[in-house]
Amino acid sequence: MSCQGLSAVRFAPPVRGYRSGMSNELFNDATSVLTEAMRYADISPDTVELLRQPKSALQVSIPVRRDNGTLETYLGYRVRYNDSRGPTKGGIRFHPSVSLDEVQTLAFWMTIKCAIVDLPYGGGKGGVTVDPKALSMHELERLSRGYIDAIADFIGPDVDIPAPDVYTNELVMSWMMDQYSTIQRRRVRDVITGKPVALGGSLGRSSATGDGGFYVARSLMPRILDDVEVPTVAVQGFGNAGAVIAGRLHDAGCRVVAVSDSKGGIHRPDGLHVPSVRRVKEETGRLTAVRGDDVQDFDPITQDELLALDVDILVPSALENAITSRNVESVRARMMVELANGPISAEADQLLHKRGVTVVPDVLANAGGVVVSYFEWVQNRQGFPWTADEVDQRLQSRMITEADRLWSAATERDTSLRVAAYAQALERIGHAVDAKGHTDTYRAAS
Ligand code: NAD
Repeated sequence: MSCQGLSAVRFAPPVRGYRSGMSNELFNDATSVLTEAMRYADISPDTVELLRQPKSALQVSIPVRRDNGTLETYLGYRVRYNDSRGPTKGGIRFHPSVSLDEVQTLAFWMTIKCAIVDLPYGGGKGGVTVDPKALSMHELERLSRGYIDAIADFIGPDVDIPAPDVYTNELVMSWMMDQYSTIQRRRVRDVITGKPVALGGSLGRSSATGDGGFYVARSLMPRILDDVEVPTVAVQGFGNAGAVIAGRLHDAGCRVVAVSDSKGGIHRPDGLHVPSVRRVKEETGRLTAVRGDDVQDFDPITQDELLALDVDILVPSALENAITSRNVESVRARMMVELANGPISAEADQLLHKRGVTVVPDVLANAGGVVVSYFEWVQNRQGFPWTADEVDQRLQSRMITEADRLWSAATERDTSLRVAAYAQALERIGHAVDAKGHTDTYRAAS
C-alpha cells in the first residue's frame, strides 16, 4: 500500500520529562525529510506508525569517583529506535552537548542508514553528557565501565550492539566489552564493535567510515564533476572520519586545499600534503601545512571561511548543523559529502538542492563504519577473522552498489540523493514490518 496521503504524519518528540526546557529541534529537523520520501516509497501505514517514535529510550545516571576522591554523576542515554530488520546498532558518543534529542536523532539516522546499506540491523545510539578531555584516563575508564553497568540489561549481541562515535575509541570499546563480559561471566565479543583487533576487532574498522565515504565519492564524482580534471576539496573536521577521506582523496589525485579541527583550519590553494599533515596532527595535536619535514606556506582560516571556499567538493566531517540557513548562501562547492551525521540542516539542504548542489547524504556517505562494524560482528560470531583485503573488497562492493542504486533512483524520480535514500530505506524497513503481517492482512482475515 502506498503512503501517499500520509503527508501529515507527525513524528514524536523525544521522551520528555528528564530535563526542563529540552529541545527536540534536531529530531524534528531530521524526520522532516520523511514526509517527502514517503511519496516515493511503497510502504504500509504500519511501517509509518512504527517509525513515529523510538522503540525504547533509557536515561541513566553514572556515578564516577574522580581521582581527587569526590563523586560525580553524569547523564547517559541509550535509544533503540527501531528493530524491524534486526538488533539495533549504533555508536556511543561522549560529548558535553549530548542530549536525549541528539541521541534519539542519531538512533533514527542509524535505522535509516542500516537499511540503506542493507544490513540485518535496526538503529540505536548512546551517549554520555561529558567533556572527556577533562577526565583522566582512569576516570574515563570508570565512566565507560559505569555506563555499561547502567545499560547492560538493555544491550546484547542479538538485541543492541554499540560501537564508537565522537570522542570514544577502540580503548573505550575494549573497557566496555570487558565490563559487559564481567557482568555476563563469559567473554561476549559480539556485544560491541570497533574493538581493538587483539580483542576481536576487525581489520579495516578504524578507517572504514572515511574509506566508505571515499568509495561513494569516487563512484559519483565522474557523474557530478564530469568537467573537472583535478577536483579541489575542503574537509571540515580532521578526525577519525575526516582525516581518512582527506587522505584517500589526496592519494586518488584530488587537491585537498583546506582542512580544519575544533581549533580552526588551514588553507593552502596549491594543495596540502595530507599524509604529512596527518602525521604532524597525530604527533602534536596541531594542524599545520607540512610536506615530509618541510613546513609549507598556508593561511589560517575559520570554520566559516572553510565552508565558503570555492572548491569542487566540500566534506563536512565534524558535528551536526555545520551548514544551516545562517551560512548556506556562502557555500560554493558543487558536491558535498556528508561524512558527519547531520551536518546540513533540512532547510539548508533544500536550498542547496534548488541551487543544483549535489549532497551525498550522511546515511550513505558515512555508512562504511557500520558496514565494517557488521563485518566485525559476523567475524566474532563465526570465530574466524577476515584479511584486510577481504574486508576492503566487501566494503567497497557494498558502498558502490548502493551508491549506484541511489544515483539511478534519484535520477529516475528527479529527487535529491537524500530523498531517494530515505525512500529506499523506508521500503526495506517496510518489507520487514509487513513480512510479519500488517493491517491489510488482518482486515482480509476478519
Ligand atoms: P572525531 O572525534 O575523531 O573527529 C571529529 C573532528 O572534528 C576532530 O578533529 C575535532 O577537532 C573536529 N571538530 C569538532 N568540532 C569542530 C568544529 N566546530 N569545526 C571543525 N572541526 C571540528 O570524530 P569522528 O569519529 O571522526 O566523527 C566525526 C563525525 O562523523 C561525527 O558526526 C560522527 O557522528 C560521524 N561518524 C563517525 C563514524 C566513525 O566511525 N568514526 C561513523 C559514522 C559517522
